[in-house]
Amino acid sequence: MTRIALFPGSFDPFTKGHYDIVIRGLKLFDEIIVAIGQNTMKQRYFPLELMIEKINETFRDHEQIRVITYNELTATFVKKYNARFLLRGLRNTTDFEYENSIAQVNKYLNAELESVFLITSPEFAAINSSVIREVHRYEGDINVFLPYNLY
Ligand code: ADP
Repeated sequence: MTRIALFPGSFDPFTKGHYDIVIRGLKLFDEIIVAIGQNTMKQRYFPLELMIEKINETFRDHEQIRVITYNELTATFVKKYNARFLLRGLRNTTDFEYENSIAQVNKYLNAELESVFLITSPEFAAINSSVIREVHRYEGDINVFLPYNLY
């Protein structure tokens, strides 16, 4: 059976930390779907279309990886793609606390779904999308944190 994992997130922007999780995830899964959640309550900083384009460009040589957007409950949405795994990254105890509660709720909503966590590689542990947005807002160069060139 094909092992399909959904890698859900805001990816605002998609960073080298996210990239590292996806590439390492390929050792575990046959297909990885990077799923950008469109939260109607949360205004994005980087346009959705731009991020789709950049993620596609980043993984153009990997046919096992694709990017989609969604606007539904992750735990049940995965069924549309026959994904039995949720891939997430863990940087620190703050991530752990958050991921732990989400994973428990997801398990309750969809008992077939397994959440799989990869510990961040140390060189990317400090990379954080909200800090990157702040640097960009004040015109700092953020390309060093990204696996593609923004402009
Ligand atoms: P969310 O809004 O769902 O937290 P993010 O786009 O911030 O979405 O993150 C998506 C996933 O990637 C989460 O599991 C998060 O912990 C993980 N992640 C974010 N930054 C890094 C990083 N630098 N290294 C490893 N994992 C990361």
